[in-house]
Amino acid sequence: MPAYDPNNIFAKILRGELPSHKVYEDERAFAFLDIMPRAPGHTLVIPKSPARNLLDVSSDDLAHVAGVVQKVARAARTAFDADGVTIQQFNESAGGQVVFHLHFHIIPRKEGVAMKPPASAKEKPEALAEHARKLAAALAAS
Ligand code: 5GP
Repeated sequence: MPAYDPNNIFAKILRGELPSHKVYEDERAFAFLDIMPRAPGHTLVIPKSPARNLLDVSSDDLAHVAGVVQKVARAARTAFDADGVTIQQFNESAGGQVVFHLHFHIIPRKEGVAMKPPASAKEKPEALAEHARKLAAALAAS
């Protein structure tokens, strides 16, 4: 497996070199909105440690990130009145991974509503700001 590339987009977001719509942060994890959401509220949860994907992350960091995924998924259900939540995670190009910093997708779902195809459209910044605000409020209340 190739080495971790510190210039990947999510590493730049973690270092504050690129903007993001933050949903949650603690000492080991960061959550922010996907710019091309497959449904409103589509969030990405990442470790702060330099892990390429599930195959090289430490089990401690993975356990911590899994806890944050659950926290955000619960908040997403409340904030978006979701009937369900889809969690996705891809490893290496053959596994569907495009950005090579470990991330979990959290996608709030409505009964009978299909997800948009991957990378179909960039969401408006105002909509992302509103969705991040709703998620952060649900997290604060949890
Ligand atoms: P994956 O690697 O799991 O296949 O997909 C990477 C995800 O990152 C995609 O859902 C894509 O929309 C999202 N993405 C790509 N570039 C950016 C970016 O600059 N900012 C944010 N917030 N998301 C991004």
